[in-house]
Amino acid sequence: MRLKHKPWAADYIQEHPDVIIPNPEHYKGKWNEVFGNDNPIHIEVGTGKGQFVLGMALQNPDINYIGIELFDSVIVCALEKIVAADKPSNLRLLKVDGAKLEEFFGKGDVDRVYLNFSDPWPKVRHAKRRLTHGGFLKIYENVLVDNGEIHFKTDNRGLFEYSLVSMNEYGMALKYVSLDLHANMPEDNIMTEYEERFSKLGQPIYRLECQFKT
Ligand code: SAM
Repeated sequence: MRLKHKPWAADYIQEHPDVIIPNPEHYKGKWNEVFGNDNPIHIEVGTGKGQFVLGMALQNPDINYIGIELFDSVIVCALEKIVAADKPSNLRLLKVDGAKLEEFFGKGDVDRVYLNFSDPWPKVRHAKRRLTHGGFLKIYENVLVDNGEIHFKTDNRGLFEYSLVSMNEYGMALKYVSLDLHANMPEDNIMTEYEERFSKLGQPIYRLECQFKT
């Protein structure tokens, strides 16, 4: 994703601590205090400009969503969308690195992890940065409930193939695979910004659901 410098982003983020939680480590093991209920928590790692996580929150009011994104200049776009949608009470954002999830979530805090159009990092020497690398799968397992699931969409065939192998080697159970999601578009599919862009170019969208085994 191309990053534009937005000097106003840091101030705008600070003005909305009710959406972008400034001290997420404080809520480890007690995210129900943030949401005011015990509903399941689904997180999206690499949320980008937020269309997916906002759409999911509006579609599923009984699930709590947390979008996780590294960069100010990107997460601020998600924040603008959420403010324009009157800040749904079941949605928050964290400006943190997905590699540090264990600092913010205890075992069982998270019910599902979404990964959408994650950066492919095609060079072999960068494989550890892929969000479906075994190192990241271990982190997700450490914050998910037992038998928790990862739902993953991408346009990138190489990353999809890599992820299938990585999840299989990790010992996860594959529950669903589509090599062309839009050929039989599920009614409840919420498109991400990248999904809209790449599907308009005629590229197939790959999707899988997999589950950690206990
Ligand atoms: N999910 C969005 C979509 O489908 O439109 C954005 C896709 S974009 C290619 C990947 C996003 O993941 C970028 O915004 C990037 O900053 C974010 N990202 C990459 N690695 C991350 C990490 N370790 N933690 C949090 N966000 C990350």
